[in-house]
Amino acid sequence: MTHPPIRPRDRFLVFGAPQVGEAEIAEVVDTLRGGWWGTGPKAAEFERRFAAYVGGTHAVALGSCTAALHLSMLAAGIKPGDEVITTPLTFCATVNAIVHAGATPVLADVDPVTMNIDPEAIAARITPRTRALVVVHFAGRPCDMDAITALVAHHDLLLIEDCAHAIETTVAGRHAGTFGDFGAFSFYVTKNVSTGEGGMVIARDETAADRIRVLGLHGMSQDAWKRYGDEGYRHYDVVAAGFKSNMMDLQASIGLHQLARVEENWERRRAIWRRYDEAFADLPLTLPAAPAPDTRHGLHLYTLLVDPDVAPLGRDAFLDAMTRQGIGTGVQYRSIPEHPFYRERFGWHPDEWPHATTIGEQTVSIPLSAVLSDGDVADVIAATRRVLGA
Ligand SMILES: *Cc1c(COP(=O)(O)O)cnc(C)c1O
Repeated sequence: MTHPPIRPRDRFLVFGAPQVGEAEIAEVVDTLRGGWWGTGPKAAEFERRFAAYVGGTHAVALGSCTAALHLSMLAAGIKPGDEVITTPLTFCATVNAIVHAGATPVLADVDPVTMNIDPEAIAARITPRTRALVVVHFAGRPCDMDAITALVAHHDLLLIEDCAHAIETTVAGRHAGTFGDFGAFSFYVTKNVSTGEGGMVIARDETAADRIRVLGLHGMSQDAWKRYGDEGYRHYDVVAAGFKSNMMDLQASIGLHQLARVEENWERRRAIWRRYDEAFADLPLTLPAAPAPDTRHGLHLYTLLVDPDVAPLGRDAFLDAMTRQGIGTGVQYRSIPEHPFYRERFGWHPDEWPHATTIGEQTVSIPLSAVLSDGDVADVIAATRRVLGA
């Protein structure tokens, strides 16, 4: 099929493009020249500044959010036979981390309006084997933390917050990631703060944070920085069969300056968000729900629901048409039970989670990066309207 673009952009607009400043370029060069590329003083400084930003106590910088989720569960003693409840509307890593911890994932459907895990659906899935809850603050919108923390307290569960979308998110002034036992953050390229690849755990308990640090670096009792520091060689003991999930100073060099712009970039995304809200108000689409009172939305993803019964085309045709207009898009996410691995392993069928399934069939994320120019935003709006025949 050939549908020539009506007015092609001369440059394809990449979805989730990172914003790079001169400060992180200079810092990376400084690290490269300094000779200490691995986990060292810059990773430690990034931990301190990140903990200060979110108001958390113990921060451990890691190689990914996936590692942050996995190691949190191991540090908490989650084991085979335990059930861990999470959302079907998430990135596969959330569920894979539960599987890698040896536990059994259990899905609780989302609220169709907020797209976040529904506390009533969680309550219905709790059994005597439920040990933990992994909530995802979807798109940056906080979950219903009053209801969730009440459930956690009542059933004596562990609470892990997947904050991959939610660095800036707050509820009553308190940051996402500090409500439970662990908050797991992502610095993947498309995320609001990026280190290329990277993650962070905020842990309430110091012993758990120390355990994550050890598990993230081969299970060695002292980290490599100390091992090769200027105090001379020191033996280390291996105290666990650990993993390789540490963050390098090279990555932290980027993160330090990305974090310094986190608020400025959130303001920029808010301006883009408002333009989208106004520009799409008359279109046959469902736009993101307005934020709940006394909360701050992280504004990570601007999602459109394309319902084929209402719009002139379906979601997948919409994606293709946007590509032809030169606009990159994302799908966050087809629901977890749509994927063959989970169906085969757990016998799941999408019909059991109707809200996540419908959202997964209709959702499209359009560009929302702080790097977008006003012209880029105008192009996204024009393309969206054109594709819908408006
Ligand atoms: C990106 C993402 C992850 C994984 O983050 P990595 O840093 O790439 O491991 C986990 N959960 C959600 C909801 C995500 O969006």
